[in-house]
Amino acid sequence: MTHRPSTSIPFNWPYMTGQELGHISEAHRNGKLAGDGPYTKKCHHWIESHTNTLKALLTHSCTASLEMSALLLDLGVGDEVIMPSYTFVSTANAFALRGVTPVFVDIRGDTLNIDETKITAAITPKTKAIIPVHYGGVACEMDAIIKIAENHNLSVVEDAAQGVMASYKGKSLGSIGDLGAYSFHETKNLISGEGGALLVNNPEMIERAEIIREKGTDRKKFSEGIVDKYTWQELGSSYLPGEIIAAFLWAQMLEAKKITSKRIQLWQTYHSAFIDAENEGLLRRPIVPAECLHNGHMYYILLPRRFDRSKVIKELGENSVNAIFHYIPLHQSPAGRKFCKISGSMKVTDDISGRILRLPCWAGLEDEVNYVVETTIKVLSKFK
Ligand SMILES: *Cc1c(COP(=O)(O)O)cnc(C)c1O
Repeated sequence: MTHRPSTSIPFNWPYMTGQELGHISEAHRNGKLAGDGPYTKKCHHWIESHTNTLKALLTHSCTASLEMSALLLDLGVGDEVIMPSYTFVSTANAFALRGVTPVFVDIRGDTLNIDETKITAAITPKTKAIIPVHYGGVACEMDAIIKIAENHNLSVVEDAAQGVMASYKGKSLGSIGDLGAYSFHETKNLISGEGGALLVNNPEMIERAEIIREKGTDRKKFSEGIVDKYTWQELGSSYLPGEIIAAFLWAQMLEAKKITSKRIQLWQTYHSAFIDAENEGLLRRPIVPAECLHNGHMYYILLPRRFDRSKVIKELGENSVNAIFHYIPLHQSPAGRKFCKISGSMKVTDDISGRILRLPCWAGLEDEVNYVVETTIKVLSKFK
């Protein structure tokens, strides 16, 4: 048995490249602290060149990017958007804020992503968009989703909060639908504390995206000298981060490949180490379809139904391993009941959300991952 670490292993630990402060002090020297300065531009170009998206815009969060999407698609009271219930609150909240009704569809048992075969049944004359969430950086079945959207004249907004540096059939997540939303929150792969980006893949939406992000004004055209004054053009808000945040994020982007490959290696270590445990019926490992290249964002296991998850978490904690679970499905939440609708059964969502267990997975865990594996197997064996 690998020796027990001197301190408890956190569920998440933000990875720092060591270059963040250097770039922040450069931003400080530049004397340009509001948004859309040199660091923001570097980040925009990085996203555009790495994902092949037409236009990337930094935002202060993925939540903000999703809110911008609802504004961009002109959605409002009486409209519906289709999404999984097994997701973070922002996916639904961003649309509910505009008076739109999120309609939940069940997830697939393999990837835990929206079940694309159940989407068509959820479409009504009110439906305006589909919001696939790429869980754990593993892509949804995008070919099928895009086809449904085209057949019914719907927009597609990818919640790619967890999907930076991951792809589907060679296409970067976030670059496939009309719009894509990234998160650079501390718990994600590339971080800036709080932070996000909106990827605009539909050329007709670029100009309005820039206006909505700048408080609904045409300030961008003004700063480029295209117009001689800027004014309120339409509904918008302040969705851009300041330069200090962009400078931090730039340091992370420069090491994006390294950070991602560290995470993938860790993920792979878990995955290989749990083969026997899966065969013995102690757990089920994640399933990644061949067309999906994931980014090691998350390692989770599914416990057998008869195991008491809170006891497992408690025992792991007593052995210095901090494991957690999420999400409380949105259709079970108080706000979800109030603002959202369900289409069909939520059987898989209810089942999976009760059995999932997320293990620590962060760049830097390399020395302790074997301890986490051994401890997890030891604890689970007791529940057999
Ligand atoms: C993290 C996350 C968000 C929210 O990201 P923020 O940048 O914190 O706003 C939205 N959707 C999903 C699926 C997430 O994992």
